[in-house]
This record gives sequence, C-alpha cells and structure tokens, in this order.
Amino acid sequence: MTVWSCELSVKTKGEGEVVDITSMVSSAVRSSGISNGIVNVFVVGSTAAVTTIEYEPGLVHDLSDILERIAPKNHPYKHHEKWSDYNGHSHIRAALIGPSVSIPLRDGKLVLGTWQQLVLLELDTRPRERRVIVTTMGV
Ligand code: ZN
Repeated sequence: MTVWSCELSVKTKGEGEVVDITSMVSSAVRSSGISNGIVNVFVVGSTAAVTTIEYEPGLVHDLSDILERIAPKNHPYKHHEKWSDYNGHSHIRAALIGPSVSIPLRDGKLVLGTWQQLVLLELDTRPRERRVIVTTMGV
C-alpha cells in the first residue's frame, strides 16, 4: 500500500461561496498514481468545510439558506467576546459540516454519483486562500 499527499490552493470570493473542487481533486488523484483505495480531502482551518452535494445553483442557495437558519449570523456568539471577529456562525457551520471527506477510488477514479460533486464551502466572512490537503491511500 502506498500513501501519497499533496496540497492544493483554493482562492475563495467570500462568505457563502461553494467551490466545486471535483476536477482538481480528480487530477491530483491521477498524479498520485494510486488507482484503488481511498482519497481523503481535508481543508485546513476552522471556518471552511468540505462535503458533497449536487452542484446546481438552486441547491447551493438552499444550503446557504438552511445554514443561516441553523447557525444565524446575528446570534450573540460568545466567540465574539474573545476575538471580536464576528464569525461565530462561520465556526459553528464549519464544525457541523466538517473539514474533510473520504471517497473510495476505483480504477483511478473517485466513486461519486452522477449528481454528487465534491465541494469546498467558504464560511468565513471574507475571501480566503484555502489549503486543501489531498491524501491517497491504496495501490
Ligand atoms: Zn473566529
């Protein structure tokens, strides 16, 4: 079994942006030379998240809408008393969705549904440059 890793950089435009990273991760997987096993995709930082979704505008909008209901921006977060960065909602949303996903690899390809894209969610209140760690394990 081989373990391989690389780091991708993703520039985000700001809060609520959902970036389809499927093709960049697929090409990283091709570079790894690993055909069968698993890939883990992890975003560094506590105000971004990685998940899968059907990447179509309506659903991307719905996701932001529901996140606002679950962790509203105007809630009096204790976090604001510590740093005054007013991104308590960003941290909570990121914690609930999570920073990583693992996807099976079969014959050099990610095993994803036709309507299942791999996405990076920018949840912070400003544009960021995100570090995404791609780790493949397998043969
Ligand atoms: Zn913060």
